[in-house]
Amino acid sequence: MTKILACLLLIFVFMKVSAQQPSNYKNFEVSVYARAYEVRDMSDQKKLEETWDLISHQVKIDKIYLETHRDQIIVPEKTLESAIRFFKSKGLKVAGGITFTINESNNFETFCFSNPEHRTKAREIAEYTAKYFDEFILDDFFFTSCKCDLCIKAKVDMSWTDYRLKLMTEAARELIIGPAKAVDPDVKIVIKYPNWYEHFQGLGFNLETEPRMFDGIYTGTETRDAVNSDQHLQPYESYMIIRYFNNIAPGRNGGGWVDPFGSLFLDRYAEQFWLTLFAKAPEITMFDYRSLQTPIQKETRAAWQGSGTSFDFDTMMEPVRMKDGKTVQPTTIARAAGITFEQVDQFLGLLGNPVGIKSYRPFHATGEDFLQNYLGMIGIPMDLTSEFPADGNMILLTESAKFDPGIVQKIKDRLQSGKNVMITSGLLKALQDKGIADIVELRCTDRKALVTDFKTGRGRFSKSSQEILIPQITYLTNDSWEEISAIKGATGWPIVHRAVYSKANLYVLTIPDNFSDLYQYPPEVLNRIRSIVSNDLDIKIEGPSQVSLFCYDNGTFIVQSFLPEPVTVKILVRDPTVKITDLLSDETIEAIAVKQQFPARDAVSYHSFEITVKPHSYKVFGTK
Ligand SMILES: [Zn+2]
Repeated sequence: MTKILACLLLIFVFMKVSAQQPSNYKNFEVSVYARAYEVRDMSDQKKLEETWDLISHQVKIDKIYLETHRDQIIVPEKTLESAIRFFKSKGLKVAGGITFTINESNNFETFCFSNPEHRTKAREIAEYTAKYFDEFILDDFFFTSCKCDLCIKAKVDMSWTDYRLKLMTEAARELIIGPAKAVDPDVKIVIKYPNWYEHFQGLGFNLETEPRMFDGIYTGTETRDAVNSDQHLQPYESYMIIRYFNNIAPGRNGGGWVDPFGSLFLDRYAEQFWLTLFAKAPEITMFDYRSLQTPIQKETRAAWQGSGTSFDFDTMMEPVRMKDGKTVQPTTIARAAGITFEQVDQFLGLLGNPVGIKSYRPFHATGEDFLQNYLGMIGIPMDLTSEFPADGNMILLTESAKFDPGIVQKIKDRLQSGKNVMITSGLLKALQDKGIADIVELRCTDRKALVTDFKTGRGRFSKSSQEILIPQITYLTNDSWEEISAIKGATGWPIVHRAVYSKANLYVLTIPDNFSDLYQYPPEVLNRIRSIVSNDLDIKIEGPSQVSLFCYDNGTFIVQSFLPEPVTVKILVRDPTVKITDLLSDETIEAIAVKQQFPARDAVSYHSFEITVKPHSYKVFGTK
């Protein structure tokens, strides 16, 4: 080999394999995403140094995504080149990013993929980005909400959902993947999906075709504040959506993505990060370079602070020690992220693979929107998949399962093979004239009841603190049985109902009209629901709602409270465990004898442990 060739080869190797430092964390990588606005400003080297110092002194970062386009802003080549050089010199991995918005501030106006001019532009942006990066990610907006005259004409008699699913799959192939790979056949292209998975199909995000077409997918795990933000997403989704996308693209879900918007307290910001990591996301992206510079406001210090919660505001405010021994006083929310990552990295490696009760969402299905996340919030470990789950002694199906035309037969097959199924009142209603009567003749009527009283067994009554509006389910005496009942006046209706079919049980879980009223079910009702549904798991919890359980296949587990006050819960662990260890404090907790409350058919011997969890905090346990 000539010297020149060897030199060229060296340069090539250097270009492709940048001088990276080892990862800053043992169990995951941390990235920051910079929007085209901020990347454009990186032409100012002095400002870049200052902002980078400000952020990186508070949170250790392994990788940066530099966006080339957003809102019709294209970052000039010179700026892009110098920014790439800058971050590589800091030892970071550098990837690209694209946001296909015309004007984000106009109701998230996206490109129109029926419009030839927009299509050309989209292709050019993909080609431009592939020129500079080995990898790039599409931020949340590779969908379309356009209903211009071109779109109206093009869709003909298709539904908007069908038109957009087809359009975006074609656009992904023809405008993004094909052209970018023509520039660099090795470029890795990742599609990042937002948090609103239940509605994707309506805007053209295609979970059926795209994960196979792109080199990887990525997950929006920002749940923000359920009440204060318009999407009203439940905190549990920050965990569950990672599991769901892992199941759709095993080994190719790159990570989770959190922003600081919409949360009233910094605890909620930190919580989204750790919930994402509890699901074993390999990478976490902080959106974004600008918002990480937001000053810490004392109003974001929650009322429960000072009591030793998992996110501790005062600990966060302690000076950070740099490698050179100097200390830096935290000033921006980047430190809330930094301290959270440092904390979680200490124990994440002790956890096995997450496990939960499988639930099924056929591709492009809707029905009982996001319900699995509410179920996660009442202490049922959930695991959402896009394939009908054949394994496990119990699965939980919500209304969205009706989108599978073969669903009744699949339920029958499971029951005949001796495996239980729980369906919601919403799915019962959807299937009651579509074959489910072949299993059991039950009706979810249009009549409602406002209830506060419940019966979980003979003579066992409990009360909710608020009235709950439930649908009235009717059944044929001695054909199926009430396991839990709601009572009003001198009558009542099923909350959990059971029917025997072949070798197993079909259970029906009554979902209140307001899903968040599941949180109002009294602990006795929730305990019984958890007991029935989580028989496959070695661990369950007893207590109020808004306490979640995360289980792993090596016997470790996490209990997380989303309540604003401390909560005492019981952990039930299957024999022969007589003590559990708090992996954060090394404290061991001895078992107390547990009386079997429930009927013999779900009686498995458990040991019980009582623990208290602080507001918006978690505890991590081992059983060995
Ligand atoms: Zn259009």
